Amino acid sequence: MAFLEYAAAPESASILNLKAQYGLFIDGEFVDGHGDVFDTISPATEEVIASIAQATAGDVDVAVAAARRAYDRVWSRMSGSDRGKYLFRIARLVQERARELAVAESLDNGKPIRETRDVDVPLVAAWFFYYAGWADKLEHAGLGPNPRALGVAAQVIPWNFPLLMLAWKIAPALAAGNTVVIKPAETTSLTAMLFAEILQQADLPAGVVNIVTGPGATGQALVTHDDVNKVAFTGSTNVGRMIARQVAGTQKRLTLELGGKAANIVFDDAPMDQAIEGIVNGIFFNQGHVCCAGSRLLVQENVHDEVIDRLKARLSTLRMGDPLDKNTDIGAINSAAQLERIRTLSDTGESEGAERWTADCRIPEKGFWFAPTIFTKVSAAHAIAREEIFGPVLSVLTFRTPAEAIAKANNTPYGLSAGIWTEKGSRMLALVDQLRAGVVWANTFNRFDPASPFGGYKESGYGREGGRHGLAAYLEASGWDAPASLSAASTTPSDGGRAARKPAKTRKAVAK
Ligand code: NAP
Ligand code: MG
Repeated sequence: MAFLEYAAAPESASILNLKAQYGLFIDGEFVDGHGDVFDTISPATEEVIASIAQATAGDVDVAVAAARRAYDRVWSRMSGSDRGKYLFRIARLVQERARELAVAESLDNGKPIRETRDVDVPLVAAWFFYYAGWADKLEHAGLGPNPRALGVAAQVIPWNFPLLMLAWKIAPALAAGNTVVIKPAETTSLTAMLFAEILQQADLPAGVVNIVTGPGATGQALVTHDDVNKVAFTGSTNVGRMIARQVAGTQKRLTLELGGKAANIVFDDAPMDQAIEGIVNGIFFNQGHVCCAGSRLLVQENVHDEVIDRLKARLSTLRMGDPLDKNTDIGAINSAAQLERIRTLSDTGESEGAERWTADCRIPEKGFWFAPTIFTKVSAAHAIAREEIFGPVLSVLTFRTPAEAIAKANNTPYGLSAGIWTEKGSRMLALVDQLRAGVVWANTFNRFDPASPFGGYKESGYGREGGRHGLAAYLEASGWDAPASLSAASTTPSDGGRAARKPAKTRKAVAK
């Protein structure tokens, strides 16, 4: 069968007005750090985009001091409605500069422009609009008549959704009246620097948001700093565990958004066309660099062959390549290190006896690439069924009964998300209650909304981001005891206080 070829349709990077070198953003200004500089590259071409400052512990100290001053003198004294005006202004500026932000994110991260343009950047604006609306309504957040901000928030974010994770962190913190020092991931600092320019455009008072770029050591200096009141971390479970240990015994409040190994459960009565698209979106969206990715497909045994055949046919039509091309479905892997990890785990899958299938994609000569891959004949004991691969790799397992599906879905140390595909509403509701996952999507997957809380069970972390619950992570209840389900976990033992408190299941979304 002959296929029509797509002509290249690249978005032009000429819209960007990048500097050759970016400093740290402290007290409203770009300043030179005292550390070395490092290059940020395009993972699709390995070309250098700009050089980025590496904040030292001393620089982090200056940033925290600026955030403290801004908190004491300005932000904690400002009315909620005035804080809200700044957040609305930031949201509008994100919209105005949306195209530029999308291009910069695709260039620096490697994700397709179709996603940055249609998902990441619109959600960033939506997050600021949503929390702007809360800034003058905090007494209705369910935390008593006069909830108080915590103070200075130290925030550390990963590279998979650089600007979106920044928005998830900064928008609720500012709405609740906190000031912020945030550290972007080393490989993806560029859009945080453009965001700093937006803060200047918005005339946000100096010191309310400070951005310190650099490696893990910079993050460590930030989260262990004595003068921060709150630590919010999104990243790997290993680093999250280390931070929990470092913060334990202090007065700092802590929320952790960590890894996942979500089950996407397909029953034989599922709407099959949608289910195939949902499986693809579940694991191949953002090259599978998604903490809540549907990386374990649990398919009912009698439809296994049909689902796999249709999935392979669909994957064969995906286009991998230039992230700036509007036709691209699968972009570049974010870094050489992540590519290595995906390769190693995939090789383990093969050596442990699972059957590997890879879409026939042309791999560009430069850059970091991994073609969409499916493993069948996977057993629950295989490493690829247990460990987070964080790449475009799907592990397929089968089940016969709903009880078996639940048992297999919950057979993981993680508990961030899950998906159910079935025509029966009653089955969805029955399953949702038994899945140990913070977010459960039904007949859809990877949908995000600022009004909907997001977060994990077990090793996927604790605390919620988004919605009213997301405010609770940045507020102290006052004059009233908040219900346990609303108060964010404070420094806690290894289970995050989970034994004492059953977290609210955060989402039961049904596609309209
Ligand atoms: P990571 O290595 O834990 O890094 C996350 C962030 O922490 C980065 O900014 C990193 O800096 C920094 N960091 C590293 N070591 C640190 C330390 N000792 N103290 C303080 N900060 C430190 O994770 P990653 O590989 O970048 O991200 C992938 C992971 O994030 C996956 O496991 C994924 O599931 C998880 N994730 C979870 C969510 C969620 O909402 N639950 C969302 C997205 C991603 P460098 O970049 O310089 O290393
Ligand atoms: Mg980069």
